Amino acid sequence: MEVRSFKGGVHVPHSKGLTEGKETVVCSQPKTVFIPMRQHIGAPAKPVVAPKDPVKKGQVIGEAGGFVSANIHSSVSGTVKKIHTMKIMGLDTTVIEIDNDFQETWHESVTPRAGIDQLSGSDIKGLIQEAGIVGMGGAGFPLHVKLSPPENKPIDIFIVNGTECEPYLTCDHRLMLEESDQIIQGLLFMMKTVSVKKAYIGIEVNKPDAIDAMTSAAAPYDSIEIVPLAAKYPQGGEKQLIYACTKREVPSGGLPADIGVVVANVATTKAVADYIVLGQPVIERICSVTGSGITTPKNMWIKVGTPLQHLIDECDGLTNDSAKLIMGGPMMGNAVAGTEIPSTKTTGGLLILNEADAKIGETVACIKCGRCVSACPVGLQPVYISHFSLQDRMDLAEQYHPVDCIECGSCSFICPANRPLVHSIRVAKRHVMENRRKV
Ligand code: SF4
Ligand code: SF4
Repeated sequence: MEVRSFKGGVHVPHSKGLTEGKETVVCSQPKTVFIPMRQHIGAPAKPVVAPKDPVKKGQVIGEAGGFVSANIHSSVSGTVKKIHTMKIMGLDTTVIEIDNDFQETWHESVTPRAGIDQLSGSDIKGLIQEAGIVGMGGAGFPLHVKLSPPENKPIDIFIVNGTECEPYLTCDHRLMLEESDQIIQGLLFMMKTVSVKKAYIGIEVNKPDAIDAMTSAAAPYDSIEIVPLAAKYPQGGEKQLIYACTKREVPSGGLPADIGVVVANVATTKAVADYIVLGQPVIERICSVTGSGITTPKNMWIKVGTPLQHLIDECDGLTNDSAKLIMGGPMMGNAVAGTEIPSTKTTGGLLILNEADAKIGETVACIKCGRCVSACPVGLQPVYISHFSLQDRMDLAEQYHPVDCIECGSCSFICPANRPLVHSIRVAKRHVMENRRKV
């Protein structure tokens, strides 16, 4: 078996044993869901319901606020209680609060669409847009936009990201085991939208059962190839995945479409089949609730809009020594202060670490070992960008291309001096991007 990979990267402890062998269970329903109108990159959706309105499961409650935006659907049946603003990940976000009637009544619009032979590529793209499907691997980029490359940039390869290189998280792994046929169906629909004849599904070799399951599901289709990839972080980074599968390199500042490639995560891919085959929009997903600070780690099907506290309760609560709550994985996730905020379409993990695991070593002076440079998968020099960023010399930091940083955190992970590399590089990146927008 040929195992492919990319240059740089780090070998992080996988820590996936807490949940990878557990079948996904269905989370109990919360009494109230809080559905944010901003769950994607681009303009927030606009509410199209009002307080006291009855709503059904799968009903559009927020309409896309532009082309780069996505529709939002109700994850429960019940009554709109109120529409208000909530601080979510530092941003003021409009939220539709719905009292759940626990009847699970589907909206009339939730109905199977036509088969793949009856739909053109543009029909499929229209359905994907209607379904509000966004990148469910974390980025939240509206899928219909990704499937609309400029005419002068034809696509010839589709890549499905089944790497799940973030430590602890196993939601994509379980999805590939439990829903492999749906993933292949979704991929066939997407291939038709951009008229491609070849697709790769990249999976890290630390998931041999997922490689087997997806290989069996893809067996009838010569156009789909499963690619075993080295278990190395950030194997799932878009540019790293593309290089590993095709040896093509996305140019600095460019997009996958520049080299004829579109990439989608496995959960995103399944969501396409869910809408076209079953009529169901993105109202639930698998989430790994895991880590040393939760009593019973689980993979669960959760409804969009479920408060994090409900997920914690469903896993028998926090341990006595729980210390840190992270939305996502430890490398690229975001620490959260409160448990009242809700899950979204992109919530693939809720990681809770105990005091020992959350402890960060003392920061000391750089010892000029160069490990951050060897680890950077983009070929940057993190030590210099960080140095100038911390001195507020953004003019000098810019010369080392902070805009190309994918914020993977490999440099911070490997640094023996515990330097705040990714944080300071992120500051420089934002500063440079802001300045370029002003010009
Ligand atoms: S500089 Fe950016 S891309 Fe390079 S290792 Fe650090 S976080 Fe990752
Ligand atoms: S890894 Fe840390 S100590 Fe080594 S050169 Fe980079 S910043 Fe300095």
